[in-house]
Amino acid sequence: MNYYSSAEWRRLSRQTKKRDCYQCQVCGDREGDPHTVLNAHHIIPRAKGGPDTLDNLITLCDLCHAVVTPRWLKPWFPDAVKNDREGLERVRVEYLEFLALDPATRLERQAKVWETFGIRRAQSALIQSFSSAPMICSTSASTPASDFAASLSAKVGENSTTSSNVI
Ligand SMILES: [Zn+2]
Repeated sequence: MNYYSSAEWRRLSRQTKKRDCYQCQVCGDREGDPHTVLNAHHIIPRAKGGPDTLDNLITLCDLCHAVVTPRWLKPWFPDAVKNDREGLERVRVEYLEFLALDPATRLERQAKVWETFGIRRAQSALIQSFSSAPMICSTSASTPASDFAASLSAKVGENSTTSSNVI
């Protein structure tokens, strides 16, 4: 059976999203934001021996997931794949470097980046994330990070704007 259909994966995926307060750990989009679908993602890919543990999993929205996962590039950015492969690759490297940071540094950077988009993560989440303590997630209204999505689309080529807005 495909691992991603297994009960174990469903459980891990649920736990990852809960720990990350149902928020994309790159752009800050939250569950419930327009067009946002959250996925758990292996930081070190399974194919490269990355373990199926919470430490190696991170919550990403569909769009950010598409950037870090080569096989998702085509459906999301067909024009960029054809016309601006290099631009796409630069964005990809940037994302992968960010994901490889240690969790504390990553959280610090996220908080700064998200603030520029007016997104504030619950203070409790910042403090408790990646600790073994139970998470208390923010229940405040979600704020779409559409500016980020727009700047990302601009980065990977303006032709991809249309596809990145379609789910
Ligand atoms: Zn995202």
